[in-house]
Amino acid sequence: MKYVIIGNGIAAAGAVEGIRSRDRNGAIAVIDGEQRGSYSRPLITYYLAGKRKAEQMRYRSPAFFHQHGVTVIPDRAVKIDNQARQVILQSGQAVEYDRLLLANGASPIIPEIPGIALGDWVKTLYTWQDAEQLDLLVTPGHKAVVMGSGLIGLKAAEALCQRGMKVTVVEKQSQILPRLLSRTSADLVSNHLQDRGMEIITGQEVTRINEYHQVELDNDRRIEAQLVIVAIGTKPNLSLAAACGLAVDRGILVDSYLRTSDTNIYAAGDVIETTDILTGFPSVMALLPLAHQEGLIAGQNMAGAACSYPGGLFINSVNLLGMNIIAAGSPQIPGQTWLWQQREQYLELVTECGRLVRYIALNMPQITGPLISLIEQQLKFPESFWQEFASQPGLNRLPKLYWEALKEVQENDGCRCGAI
Ligand SMILES: Cc1cc2nc3c(=O)[nH]c(=O)nc-3n(C[C@H](O)[C@H](O)[C@H](O)COP(=O)(O)OP(=O)(O)OC[C@H]3O[C@@H](n4cnc5c(N)ncnc54)[C@H](O)[C@@H]3O)c2cc1C
Repeated sequence: MKYVIIGNGIAAAGAVEGIRSRDRNGAIAVIDGEQRGSYSRPLITYYLAGKRKAEQMRYRSPAFFHQHGVTVIPDRAVKIDNQARQVILQSGQAVEYDRLLLANGASPIIPEIPGIALGDWVKTLYTWQDAEQLDLLVTPGHKAVVMGSGLIGLKAAEALCQRGMKVTVVEKQSQILPRLLSRTSADLVSNHLQDRGMEIITGQEVTRINEYHQVELDNDRRIEAQLVIVAIGTKPNLSLAAACGLAVDRGILVDSYLRTSDTNIYAAGDVIETTDILTGFPSVMALLPLAHQEGLIAGQNMAGAACSYPGGLFINSVNLLGMNIIAAGSPQIPGQTWLWQQREQYLELVTECGRLVRYIALNMPQITGPLISLIEQQLKFPESFWQEFASQPGLNRLPKLYWEALKEVQENDGCRCGAI
């Protein structure tokens, strides 16, 4: 069997592990478009901040690929010929496959505003190469503007602050981290960042970047900037899949086995549209643990298993200038909100019909595990339980029922695999 994987990110590494768990002999080729080997994308902001060296960036080492008998091809896929079962590379080489995995990720969204292509000082921060290029542009005391206050934007802003730049974040929504946080929690995080020197402007849009090194806002304010980072969101890389006729919507469409509309082609990671297990709605969930899990399951299925993927849960964990932020669950489900706050710690729980559907925890990493399993398990508790738990949150407030359910999850861990 010939396996080909397009992309060499986290989903690809999961797929190699998945394939090899079922097939020790098939040929595996990974097409590495970035030509950088396997590295951990979230670490690029730490690299920019000077907290990670090049040798600490690896997600999987070259030895991993060697041990798994994988041929890594440093090239880009430019076309999939699904009739001939070939991937055509930029170099002109054709790589044959029996099973193909699209694990080619996403790209930053670039807004169509005047001046966005002004050159060297207007950048994105999405790849290791971006971080290396930005590294050369960072000058302590100079001013930087970050467009967008999502996870990538704020991690970029943090890195620049830590390198001594004067950073302004511009967010067009009325709060920072709009996909992650509630208004109250966003205000707490925003205050924390501003107390540490970051300027944050919300509710304003960048309308133009001019040749005088200024970022213009829709309220006519102009902000000086020697450096601009564009971080307004990402979108799945769909062109390869769409061009060969695979069904796509916001991401590549896959069935519960992570198979595309072509039965020989699978897809995993940031490039796919999957199901938010809480809402049941289709969603593009660009998260590292999900990309690995999807790759693993797709790899197993490519090698003949029948493992189903239930969908993903939004869980984000980030540290920003010393504040630990964890948010999980779906903002779309309305429910009853329970709040707890003590000094630097804040917990917000949202329950619906006695089930936890969302939580936001600031500086409370210790209760993350139990709360995530409460969301995943959708255990139902009486209102009195949530009231009591929110009045004094802690591991010892969780009842026996919770621990029993957790044990069951651990015993049935992972994907549901059927016979071949
Ligand atoms: C700065 C930053 C911080 C992040 N922090 C977090 C975090 O804290 N937690 C979290 O869960 N997630 C985080 N993420 C998101 C996480 O990194 C992604 O969800 C994850 O990397 C997706 O893995 P993937 O394998 O699907 O895609 P990728 O890691 O993007 O890998 C896909 C690869 O395919 C390559 N490719 C594309 N087209 C082609 C082609 N035609 N031919 C060959 N190769 C191609 C791409 O260049 C890329 O190298 C962060 C992302 C960034 C940028």
